[in-house]
Amino acid sequence: MHELAVCQGLLDQVTRIAHEHAAQRVDRIVLRIGPLSGIELPLLEQAFTLARAGTVAQDAELHTEAAAIRVHCETCGAETDAQINRLLCGECGDYHTRLVSGDEMLLVSLELVTDERDKGNKDSSFKIQDTSNEKTSTL
Ligand SMILES: [Zn+2]
Repeated sequence: MHELAVCQGLLDQVTRIAHEHAAQRVDRIVLRIGPLSGIELPLLEQAFTLARAGTVAQDAELHTEAAAIRVHCETCGAETDAQINRLLCGECGDYHTRLVSGDEMLLVSLELVTDERDKGNKDSSFKIQDTSNEKTSTL
């Protein structure tokens, strides 16, 4: 299953970030997924449930948001929104376009929990935004 490999890559990234912040667990993972990424959300959620077992994210909720499809026009240079099955320039209608966004899976944010109960404090939770602008390969 393609989605399982995607999840394992994601969990490697999440685990690394959690360790860097000395977090005990991850409460929430937010992903941005492009409609052209080839990822099937129900399969991704199913794969995540399998892949997270035994990791720092085993109780994490997975939230996903859809990325916009954007194309860059090679003819007029405009960058516009496009439709999933109609990657035309929104300015001049040309089809010589290059996909700028819409095929990616990005880790948008994480909520990490640092267990400080030994000090009498409640769990402290913090959120990391835009942990990486690198696209996670979905190939
Ligand atoms: Zn154009």
